[in-house]
Amino acid sequence: MTTARSIAEAVRRGERSAVAILEEHLARVAQTEPQVHAFSLLTEDLARAQAAQVDHMVASGEDPGPLAGVPVALKDLLCTRGIPTTCCSRILEGWRPPYDATVVRRLAEAGAVTVGKTNMDEFAMGSSTEHSAFGPTRNPRDLSRVPGGSSGGSAAAVAAGFVPMALGSDTGGSIRQPAALCGVVGAKPTYGLVSRYGLVAFASSLDQIGPFAANVADAALLLDVISGPDGADSTSLPGEPPSARAKLGQGVDGLRVGVIAELAGAEGVAPDVARRLNQAADALATAGAKVEEISVPAVRFGLSAYYLIAPAEASSNLARFDGVRYGLRERGNDMTETYMATRAAGFGPEVKRRIMLGTYALSAGYYEAYYGKAQKVRTLIIRDFEEAYRSCDVLLSPTSPTTAFALGAKTADPLTMYLSDVCTIPANLAGHPAVSVPFGTGDDGLPVGVQVLAPALGETVMFQVAAALEEAAPAVTTGGER
Ligand code: GLN
Repeated sequence: MTTARSIAEAVRRGERSAVAILEEHLARVAQTEPQVHAFSLLTEDLARAQAAQVDHMVASGEDPGPLAGVPVALKDLLCTRGIPTTCCSRILEGWRPPYDATVVRRLAEAGAVTVGKTNMDEFAMGSSTEHSAFGPTRNPRDLSRVPGGSSGGSAAAVAAGFVPMALGSDTGGSIRQPAALCGVVGAKPTYGLVSRYGLVAFASSLDQIGPFAANVADAALLLDVISGPDGADSTSLPGEPPSARAKLGQGVDGLRVGVIAELAGAEGVAPDVARRLNQAADALATAGAKVEEISVPAVRFGLSAYYLIAPAEASSNLARFDGVRYGLRERGNDMTETYMATRAAGFGPEVKRRIMLGTYALSAGYYEAYYGKAQKVRTLIIRDFEEAYRSCDVLLSPTSPTTAFALGAKTADPLTMYLSDVCTIPANLAGHPAVSVPFGTGDDGLPVGVQVLAPALGETVMFQVAAALEEAAPAVTTGGER
């Protein structure tokens, strides 16, 4: 499989045509997409027009940009002008956004070619992509397993070679966990680094858009293309964004790495995953890093705090889907009945569960006990991370407690499903960046991901360490060139 960087270089130099590259990728999609189901919608016509435009620019001596001719896939909660954006929910049936998300515009301006919108858990609530209204995605590495979620379609599209890079969103792990389960690289940037304008909101204080790629350097390139201030998102950070690519390949000599004790030994972390984490830590030590175990005590409460804060914000964000302004409308005798019938028919069971949890957590009399308390826990987590980063440049943990599980294994028990995110949630609560890098396989031969965490705006050192891990990884599970 060729890297996104080599595609863009060849296209910019006029050695390869973007149209030909697109057709190669579409042929791969035609062959295996029926089994994998990574996409909720293919946008071949748009892709062909974009690719032709890129070739036209090259022919007339213009530079189409750093992603010239690179096929990309977009999680189906990123608004695309005039193109259905469903969040894989029935409630958005027929809705076509009147504008592009900022990241979608930035990709187009960089010369990327949009192949399609990817399947996901409805409104990004889930860890397996089984909660999609359009049916599940399967893991390209083993079709009997889930790809993880909620951005399972984007992870699978990269793992299957349908596209060299894709965008997802991560509220509690939805980029990193599917990246780990599919054996690709996936990063959640610092909160505010990437504009959320045009991202359909799940939990606004946690959501971030981020890259998937088959290798660390491509993921860093994609992040650099989408990051940076945006006047359309009031939470977007001002100033020059850190470069994800600045220190790739510089090794880790002298860097201080802390393995988070509470996550390495978290509930449900499988022995084969723990072994790979230790091996990753040893590899960094061999490469010259100072590796130690470190305690970040409050992360133990991350999952509990998240399952109050995220549903609380979701219950408020999803109130706008009422059958009046967007998508589906089930008519009742009056307005209230119309709201109720639309929401009853349009939302799936997991979304309803979150709305009920969130509404309860915010209700009068319970607000302080649940939502208020969870916010205090969030502050403790931020403080404990601050303390850890006094003695460490980056932190290490498993990404997912296990390798990819079988389809149907966790759908009957929401709590077991929620535990999939025990290691990824703390970075969302703190607003810090984190990336999952493939590091060998588990006992079942399926990919294991190791998570590298960094302080806010620490993307440069985070990707530096990620690249060193990729270099040292025991088996090529990324399917990509280095
Ligand atoms: N699996 C987590 C949840 O269901 C995280 C989802 C996400 O990051 N969007 O809430």
